[in-house]
Amino acid sequence: MSTEIYLDGNATTAVLPAAMQAALHMMGERYGNPSSTHSTGMKAKALLDAVRARAARLLGTGNGRLMFNSGATEGIQTAVLSALCAIGERREQGEAVGSLLVYGATEHKAVPESLAHWNRLLGLNLTLHKLPVGHDGRHDLAALRAVVDDAAFVCTMAANNETGIVSDIEGIAAVLAGSPALWMVDCVQALGKLQLDLANTRIDYAPFSGHKLYAPKGIGMLYVREGAPFTPLIMGGGQESGLRSGTENMAGVAALGAVLAALEDGTTFRTHAQLEQFRTRLANSLQQALPGLAFNAPLELALPTTLNFSVPGLSSKELLDVFDAAGVRVSAGSACSAAKAAPSYVLDAMGLPHWRSSSAVRLSFGPLADEAMIADACQRIARCGEALRVSGMLSGAAAAPLDGVVQLSVNGAHTWLVLDAAGLQCAVIDPQAELAERINALLKAQGYTLAAQLSTRDGSSWPAQDDVLSVGRRTLRRVPIGARKLAYLLEGAAQPSHAFIGSAEPHDLARLVGEDTLLCPGQEACQPCCTSLRAEAQDAACCSGMELDSAALEALLRQHPDACLVDVREAYEHAADSAAPMGRAALSVPLSRLAGEAANWLASERQPPLVFFCRSGKRSEKAVECMRRLGYRAAWHLEGGLALSGVGGTLVLAA
Ligand code: PLP
Repeated sequence: MSTEIYLDGNATTAVLPAAMQAALHMMGERYGNPSSTHSTGMKAKALLDAVRARAARLLGTGNGRLMFNSGATEGIQTAVLSALCAIGERREQGEAVGSLLVYGATEHKAVPESLAHWNRLLGLNLTLHKLPVGHDGRHDLAALRAVVDDAAFVCTMAANNETGIVSDIEGIAAVLAGSPALWMVDCVQALGKLQLDLANTRIDYAPFSGHKLYAPKGIGMLYVREGAPFTPLIMGGGQESGLRSGTENMAGVAALGAVLAALEDGTTFRTHAQLEQFRTRLANSLQQALPGLAFNAPLELALPTTLNFSVPGLSSKELLDVFDAAGVRVSAGSACSAAKAAPSYVLDAMGLPHWRSSSAVRLSFGPLADEAMIADACQRIARCGEALRVSGMLSGAAAAPLDGVVQLSVNGAHTWLVLDAAGLQCAVIDPQAELAERINALLKAQGYTLAAQLSTRDGSSWPAQDDVLSVGRRTLRRVPIGARKLAYLLEGAAQPSHAFIGSAEPHDLARLVGEDTLLCPGQEACQPCCTSLRAEAQDAACCSGMELDSAALEALLRQHPDACLVDVREAYEHAADSAAPMGRAALSVPLSRLAGEAANWLASERQPPLVFFCRSGKRSEKAVECMRRLGYRAAWHLEGGLALSGVGGTLVLAA
């Protein structure tokens, strides 16, 4: 079984083996400069011409121009510059050119950004006009009709990268009929998935990108209709017939040529019908695994290779993480915004409710997908659903009750839960409004009753007569800190096991708690998770040498068979993966439960070596730093996490 299933084809694709070979051959054997007149150069030129001719045949470019460039962002740039220069010149000559630069509301950001940039640089003062899309994601043709008489340039896309929605290009062409407006159609997501016959349309400019269809990054093409205005973006040695200077990326051209050859021979890639069948299977698996799932675009209007969906109660990050843990790579909305938690502007433009646009996941594959990959993906999707269910993340699903101390964080502020699984009672300390829904759902799903909601700034919500409060079998004691603050101490065997201190300083607790009482702050302080009076007295040296690479981990596990591997990813990531380093079973202790578990580890007589790990090494670094500072010296973490250290991937059921 492969360890990774790549379902993010709209962001980029792997390189087709034939394309890799073609690029290698080009770099090794046919390294000539196509502008050189000697035989080596002529061979390179012959290949350049052959790939261009093949692309022209496939795209039906007729007498139009087709130039190679670095990709679609450059193609869009060149088209925008060409159109805007022409509009400026025509206006100067007294022609009525219209004042609007019209672009679809769901265009890739490269389009409005380029329009704004060149409009400003060329001093044209034209007005950018966002063309709305309907609920189905297609351009609003009535809205286009309303502005067409004043449109100088119209930019639309053939298919959307986030939703896969295929535009009604004929409908747009009909509205533009008779208008002098120039028209660019971003064809990036269409290549290899939709039939194109460019010269038989009124499209003036069509940018393409190789890396969306199994060619490497850094190679693209721009089609310019015969007679459409053109201004080079890059001037120099006059390559590409003067349309785009700079020595051609011949390895990229050769690779793209191999992909185009595969497209032309018709046997390498799946047919539209096969792709549709694959998508149906994936869609069914998703619906079964994730109750309440909503598809964010009508499938019948979308490319057969794209699914965009949201699941009530789950953020895109949670979904991405659980998929990633199961070895399935998907993305949140568009690749560019995946790092940010911003809602998708594409789904917003379609008028979808905020919860859907802010929690969307895109699953996309390329036409090279095969039966085995889809079957494997469906199985893993089912595993993700099960992992979310057993972790209590799906509505109505009951997880094994949490017990002890749990930390929840929003924007650097911490809310703490003290839970007693035996008595099903819970106290919440410093609850934040943003977490209310999540806490209520958690308590409801696990059958807990709320014993108290406490604040470290205000004691008025304390429900007991004296300073002691029972939370099931557990006992909380309140203590004043100075005139206005409070701390809550959770009773332990000899000394309080935890103290919830809000914004108080650790030393404020000096005479109230023991050296090893875990001090749980209300804000993200410099120390991760929690601290103690002992930790505060440690010097920085206690945190040196915390990282293990794969070889060091192997050696440590050989030397210490009792060493414990601790997965600090969320419970659902652990459940979806269970791929512990070196094939060893691992304990699941998400960072949110570290403060609870740390007390047990510190209290244990035989302190076994602990090796924390997560996906990237960031969460495990926090965990090990916390444990080292608390005085647990036999603690390390896996540098670079499962993703970069190369030690993950052996599936073992967790203990
Ligand atoms: N247009 C669309 C629809 C895209 O999906 C992308 C890629 O993200 C681009 C333009 C930019 O392409 P490139 O990465 O080749 O610059």
